Amino acid sequence: MNTKINLQDRARGMLVGLAIGDALGAPVEFLNSDIIAGEMRKIQKMHDTLRFPKGVWTDDTSMALCLADSLLNCGGYDSYDVMDKYVGWYDNGDWSYFNSGYGAGLQTQLALDSYKTNQELTDDQKTDSAGNGVIMRLAPAIIATANKPNLRLASISARDTHYSVTAEAVAEMFAATLYAALSGEDKEHIFAALNADFTLPEYRKVYEQAKPLFDRANNPKSDLLKDLGGYCIDTLTIALWGLKQFDRPFYGMLGVISLGGDTDTNAAVYGQLAGAYYGYNALPEDWRKNLYKESEIVRIADKLLNMGQCPILRTRQLN
Ligand SMILES: [Mg+2]
Repeated sequence: MNTKINLQDRARGMLVGLAIGDALGAPVEFLNSDIIAGEMRKIQKMHDTLRFPKGVWTDDTSMALCLADSLLNCGGYDSYDVMDKYVGWYDNGDWSYFNSGYGAGLQTQLALDSYKTNQELTDDQKTDSAGNGVIMRLAPAIIATANKPNLRLASISARDTHYSVTAEAVAEMFAATLYAALSGEDKEHIFAALNADFTLPEYRKVYEQAKPLFDRANNPKSDLLKDLGGYCIDTLTIALWGLKQFDRPFYGMLGVISLGGDTDTNAAVYGQLAGAYYGYNALPEDWRKNLYKESEIVRIADKLLNMGQCPILRTRQLN
């Protein structure tokens, strides 16, 4: 247990780490890992192109900041307000550098389009889609409940866009690892936290089935993790691999991005975990300095941590 890094430093690290990972990985999203290998010097300096000015982030950070905005405004989790905020980003580019919801995943688009015509979440919206969108944006919910961990809030937040047992279960698993990192637990305990106190028995079944996949994180060789899609179990495994195999966020971030695949979201998920584990001050200063709206992100992390409590206020469907 490391008690030298304080909770505020870890909370700031979690949210800023998310945005840094997103910004570093976005310009090379879904490029093949062989091509990315030749881009590492540019990635390390944060790309500066017409499409991606230095430090600009995408849907991962935008949706996280929408969630943060809603939690702070409502004093807890209100599914309807959260969805309204996501729609504001998707349609108008709220909480974004871009003027509409840049980078939105397919399932998220379907959920937001459906919400615009029917605000209730009905069983016909159940899906097998278990994309990493549910874990890329989780940090604000964890920081706001740092003093009173609430796994149900994580799975409910997943359900709002991915009404899927797998997606909800993995949101609880990632939440449990983030709480462990915030508490200063060591890497072994953070990994073990995947086996969470799940709120539904079917979530445990997902964990049991996914366990051999998570074990790929223990292998220093990265071949099995290269050029994967946006499946939430793969992304979480890559984030854990980054945490286990590297001892500084600088190398972990570049290592995760070098795997190719969904680079911005993989790095945003790793960034949350690494930011909480190593703390804000361990994130390279150059990356922090160049990050779009960095000081605002820090302020938001502080406000979330100061909420004190963050109950589930309203859900669109709860069972
Ligand atoms: Mg993205």
